[in-house]
Amino acid sequence: MIRTPAKHCRNCGTALVYRVPDDGDTRERGVCPACDTIHYENPNNVVGTIPVMGDRVLLCKRNIEPRWGKWTLPAGFMELGESVSEGAARETVEEAGANFEIGELFAVMSVVRVGQVHLFYRAQLINEDFAPGHETIEARMFTEEEIPWDEIAFRTVREALRLFFEDRRKGHFGRIHTVDIV
Ligand SMILES: [Zn+2]
Repeated sequence: MIRTPAKHCRNCGTALVYRVPDDGDTRERGVCPACDTIHYENPNNVVGTIPVMGDRVLLCKRNIEPRWGKWTLPAGFMELGESVSEGAARETVEEAGANFEIGELFAVMSVVRVGQVHLFYRAQLINEDFAPGHETIEARMFTEEEIPWDEIAFRTVREALRLFFEDRRKGHFGRIHTVDIV
């Protein structure tokens, strides 16, 4: 889902004109003909965790569109005023009501076509008492063999899970994975 470009000026509400600004820029931007505000559109961050207990990972069944009823790692859009790890932890609380300790950054994934960057942290679950919020139908643990690979909501989640179990089999989580999805 590509975001639709802004139609009106955030500053004064005038209809925007799309053109390359005169300041040496090379891309078309929404420029306000009334107050000259240039509207830059940049990628959004989606932040989440891979919550783990033993050989199992926590997945949430989505109660919202898109991909209602599909399984995902707890993740969502980063908010202003929080750090990446704070956002990842917040989403894990909101979507799963999990008790956990956040760990190291695991993967940075550019989803170029939709203008998003997905960042996943590892998280160690303290127990398996979940209290899913309204965005989640069900939160439950899966071994690698149990993961419903065809029912995973997003490609980045599938890729993060695949990389996670691959590292786990090797017995070490060394480098941060960087993945470009075009
Ligand atoms: Zn304006």
